[in-house]
Amino acid sequence: MPDYMILINSENKIPEGFLDTVELVEVENPEGSRFCVEKKTYQAFLKLQADIRENHGLEIALLNSYRTLEAQQKAFDHYFYKFGLAYAEKYAARPGHSEHHTGFAIDVSFLRDGKLTHGAQELLELDDLFRIVQAKLHKYGFLLRYPKGKEEITKINYEPWHYRYIDSPEIAKEIWERGICFEEYRQQR
Ligand SMILES: [Zn+2]
Repeated sequence: MPDYMILINSENKIPEGFLDTVELVEVENPEGSRFCVEKKTYQAFLKLQADIRENHGLEIALLNSYRTLEAQQKAFDHYFYKFGLAYAEKYAARPGHSEHHTGFAIDVSFLRDGKLTHGAQELLELDDLFRIVQAKLHKYGFLLRYPKGKEEITKINYEPWHYRYIDSPEIAKEIWERGICFEEYRQQR
């Protein structure tokens, strides 16, 4: 069983061999693009998705999840060459330092008229909708990984769409109710 409580951030790199413990499944987003996600993370997402559909009439969809080191390098380089190092570090983790490498992190979007919203700016404009989803995350073992107001600690800007599976609704609930981020929770252990 993989360590679902693993902390990956600018100071903590994914350990070598970690992926050997992770079971990835291949899925497809509503627009037909294929990607991988960790198995239990995906099962928990499906429950969250059904809850949001039944209780709020909103259709959330997975945009992406697992990212290879090569893909992360590409994303980082893209920002670096376009906008410089400071910007790149704020918007794209360095390769090895993104929790997308675990398959436990998901980016979600809303499906409206058969189309998904992409792009950070467009997604930020849907903040009111994301807040409905965020309040339900802990029930299914997810965290809002980069909350507003915790940028100094997470070193990542607020991302209303990025959720992290930790396989424990109890701990997720505690973190949500106390209004702390994952780094703060881990520091107290
Ligand atoms: Zn993400």
